[in-house]
Amino acid sequence: MLNLKPFINARLVERTAFSHERERFVFEPERPVGFKPGQYATLAVVTGDEVIQRAYSIVSSPHEPTLEFFIELVEHGELTPRIWELMVGDSLLMRERIVGAFTLSPVPGISKRLLVATGTGIAPYVSMVRAKAEALRNGINDGCEYFVLHGGSRAPDLGSYRDELAAMCADGWLHYVATVSRPGENPDWTGEVGRVEDVLRKHADMRGHDAAHSIAYLCGHPQMVESGKALLARAGFQKAQLKEEKYFTLPAADVETV
Ligand SMILES: Cc1cc2nc3c(=O)[nH]c(=O)nc-3n(C[C@H](O)[C@H](O)[C@H](O)COP(=O)(O)OP(=O)(O)OC[C@H]3O[C@@H](n4cnc5c(N)ncnc54)[C@H](O)[C@@H]3O)c2cc1C
Repeated sequence: MLNLKPFINARLVERTAFSHERERFVFEPERPVGFKPGQYATLAVVTGDEVIQRAYSIVSSPHEPTLEFFIELVEHGELTPRIWELMVGDSLLMRERIVGAFTLSPVPGISKRLLVATGTGIAPYVSMVRAKAEALRNGINDGCEYFVLHGGSRAPDLGSYRDELAAMCADGWLHYVATVSRPGENPDWTGEVGRVEDVLRKHADMRGHDAAHSIAYLCGHPQMVESGKALLARAGFQKAQLKEEKYFTLPAADVETV
């Protein structure tokens, strides 16, 4: 017997395609769920006698009425091709308990947050900066400066979040840099060029994100997370200043030495 007690239904109310394999999905849970920016939901479907369930960082922030996700299609994956079959109005299952430790915690003496992502790994940071913008509207200020570095192979890998975050920079507390590793496939691209790891030190140094003032978050592709951590560790960041969320595991044969 399948135990579906931990799950509630979530109805798809909106979906936006940025490319064939990257989309934004917005769900309305059957009951409101509580969460902190940076946490993830577990989405699931039942097939036969099995529940296929995977973690997805929440893009929306807690003050929003719906739950937004930025998802990459893994062609031979078990769950994402099923999510791609959903039409607006369809439902899937979601664990009612939202979990995860990739959240912002105040650290004494730290006034800067360095948020580094590949592709859909931007999700937790969008939640964090939307929440900060909402807090500021309500007169609450954590006093921190945020710098988001976001990389992808091509511009569509960055979704609409590139424009959203760039627009929020006008307020002064947020800086955002997007980089693509295949500029040849983006003739109109005017942003930074290279993999996240290639440009991380340059931008962190330029913005004063050093070990004395900053805490770093790295999210998305496991190789970027490892390389980014190694780079920042060499710059003096201690273990407690490096938080990570790896979205999947690479087969051992594909892991490059850092
Ligand atoms: C805490 C957490 C939060 C996450 N948040 C998000 C999110 O916001 N958006 C999102 O798209 N994904 C996110 N993921 C990844 C997600 O949970 C699934 O692993 C992913 O969607 C693939 O699921 P699947 O069932 O289709 O493929 P699976 O059947 O799980 O995977 C098939 C194979 O593909 C590999 N694989 C999985 N994902 C990728 C990938 N992106 N690129 C290359 N190979 C891959 C797996 O290692 C496996 O070998 C998150 C993962 C974690 C742990």
